[in-house]
Formats: sequence, C-alpha cells, structure tokens
Amino acid sequence: MGDYHTRHAGGGRIEFVCKLAVLDDWRYVRRDEAAALVSRDAGVDTNIRHALASPATLFRFPFPWEDGLSRPEDIEGRDMFATVEFVLPPELAHLVKGIEHREVWLGVRQARGSYSFNVAIPCPLSEGFVLKHSQGAPVALADIYGERYDAMKRARTIFRCGYCETPFSVSEAELEVMRRYIPKGCRDRVTARPEE
Ligand SMILES: [Zn+2]
Repeated sequence: MGDYHTRHAGGGRIEFVCKLAVLDDWRYVRRDEAAALVSRDAGVDTNIRHALASPATLFRFPFPWEDGLSRPEDIEGRDMFATVEFVLPPELAHLVKGIEHREVWLGVRQARGSYSFNVAIPCPLSEGFVLKHSQGAPVALADIYGERYDAMKRARTIFRCGYCETPFSVSEAELEVMRRYIPKGCRDRVTARPEE
C-alpha cells in the first residue's frame, strides 16, 4: 500500500508519475517537494495536503546529494530506505539511553545441519542488555531516519537507534554536540526538536 502522485494527462486520462509514500512514511519525498507537487496532483490515490498538515508524516531527510527541487522522475528511482549512519561517542551515549528500545531479532545458524532460527534479544543499547565474556561494549550507533513537521512547519530530524531502529529526536543543546559526529554535508541540515 502506498501513495502515488498522478496527474491529468488530457482527455480525461490520469497518468501515474511517481510513488510518494508507504503508509505514513513519505521517505521518497522531502516536504518541499511534496508541497511543489500539490497543484499538479490529480489526487487519485494521494492526499498530499493531508500529509503536509499531519505531524505524523515522516518526510525524506534532505540528503546533500539530492540538492535542488527534484523532478518527479528522480523521485521515482529513489531508495526509500536511504539513511546516514554515524557513531555517537561515549559522552553522547546518554542520548540513546533515554529512549524505549525494542528487541532486536537475530538469525542463528546451527553448527550442524541447515536448521536456523531467530531469537529476540534486548537492544544492545538498552538497560536490559547484559554482556558476558566480551572484549568490549557495543558502540552507540545511530542513523538519520527522516523529518517530521509540527503545526508551525518547524522541522525536527528524526534519528533512530542503529540497532533496534527506535526513533528519537533531540534538543538543540544535544544536537549542538551531536553535530560534530554527523557526516559532513548532513550536519547543517539536521534540526532539533522545537522547545515546548
Ligand atoms: Zn535500540
């Protein structure tokens, strides 16, 4: 299931242009791109206005390699799972301590035979994760997931735990420190949670 941008092709015909979203994940388009498509949308399988107004919509992060308003044809070929991963240094590990991590599923292959199974373990960054006989602790991995906009159209970057993918956003003070570790090019585009 998804949302598609369609346009009037003349003679009463509706033409498919590109895919915009899967459920609430508008990770094919940035908010500015979606806004630019509104006037040209035939509205057959999509309600772009609703998505633009909803604070639940997760839009595509403005990746630096996609500068400029994209043509719908470019949107069509995008990888909706594109992300940017980075390592939080130990002094920032508390950023992922305050979130409610999910379980992580691991595939386990038996040494003999071909039988394999999946096990759920606590997220390596959660309180419930216990390491035994290990040489080191798991590094605090995070990635950039997308952007959400409030009623004032203020963007906040949504990050994710690099293991269990639980989303979170950060305050301006936290982001200030975090920016140093976010890959170059993305740093200036990340935004903090607006102060309440
Ligand atoms: Zn996690």
